[in-house]
Amino acid sequence: MADGDCIFCSILSGDIPADVVREDEHTLAFRDLEPQAPTHVLVIPRRHVPDVGTLAVEAPDEVAPLFAAVRAVAGQEGVADRGYRSVFNTGAEAHQTVFHAHVHVLGGRAMAWPPG
Ligand code: 5GP
Ligand code: ZN
Repeated sequence: MADGDCIFCSILSGDIPADVVREDEHTLAFRDLEPQAPTHVLVIPRRHVPDVGTLAVEAPDEVAPLFAAVRAVAGQEGVADRGYRSVFNTGAEAHQTVFHAHVHVLGGRAMAWPPG
């Protein structure tokens, strides 16, 4: 299931350290190395799939736990009431740089719209 060339699989296996804020059976959440907001956490499925849409096709039962983890992280980070943004970059033109599905959870500052 793990991909030997994948940074996030290496974080899941413990080969690359990360600032983990939450984990459960299906997901891991850790702080982004280059935070774009006061709160910037990445929530990833333990399963190696390239993007969230593929997770929905290959393991639909693991999608709800991913969203539940996003909600839990927002709560424990104290941004749930103010509001936070969940971002799924899918594909190069959308600025996906790591091809292991992940949700950016961004909060702690006002967000602009439309996104850049
Ligand atoms: P993407 O651009 O694919 O949507 O998001 C990938 C994110 O992963 C980027 O925000 C980048 O800063 C973060 N990232 C890349 N490598 C590492 C790493 O080794 N550790 C952590 N914590 N974040 C990483
Ligand atoms: Zn991976």
